[in-house]
Amino acid sequence: MAKLYFKYGAMGSSKTANALICKFNYEERGFKVLLLKPEIDDRDLVGGNIVVRSRIGLSSPCIAIGKYTDLVALFNNERKTCDYRVIVIDECQFLTKEQVEQLKELSTDYTVLCYGLLTDFKTELFEGSKRLVELADSLQEIKSICKCGKKANINVRFVSGKITTDGDSVAIEKGNITYEPMCYACFLEEKKKQEADYCCNLHGVD
Ligand SMILES: [Zn+2]
Repeated sequence: MAKLYFKYGAMGSSKTANALICKFNYEERGFKVLLLKPEIDDRDLVGGNIVVRSRIGLSSPCIAIGKYTDLVALFNNERKTCDYRVIVIDECQFLTKEQVEQLKELSTDYTVLCYGLLTDFKTELFEGSKRLVELADSLQEIKSICKCGKKANINVRFVSGKITTDGDSVAIEKGNITYEPMCYACFLEEKKKQEADYCCNLHGVD
């Protein structure tokens, strides 16, 4: 049945691998799958083509979509050359509100599966994820594990090794910016430790 699915998780929850396995499973049953990814995420640009690549080694070429891409128009255009029945989107948190509404429209006739983060490093919903929570027919969590073994639900942002809770919600992992999925207890503990270190440095205490 055609539906809009939102499968969300923190970083490190193998969302991309899940998206690619889902695409493979549909294709094995003879369904054509259109794979899309918002182009804000440029980590996987290979020779000008965007590639969806998972940490466990699965990858697939895909169509990059811009902030102003009309997904209904794009899908109808792609269907002129291939009988796509299913749409899979990776990094769907970067979709705009309007694009999620376009996907909802497409999901009346086609199966649309969105994979992405729910919240940013400030624990606030991304624009695309918020609209997906509001419109999706099915919400499913893909779990990721904190270093303590509990479920991680915070995408903690580090800048030069320090936890940060300020800044734009979108900053791709590269250079001095890194992320670690954590549970709330570990996040608080790390933050306190960092503040204590800062205090000691300020007062010259070892
Ligand atoms: Zn933890």
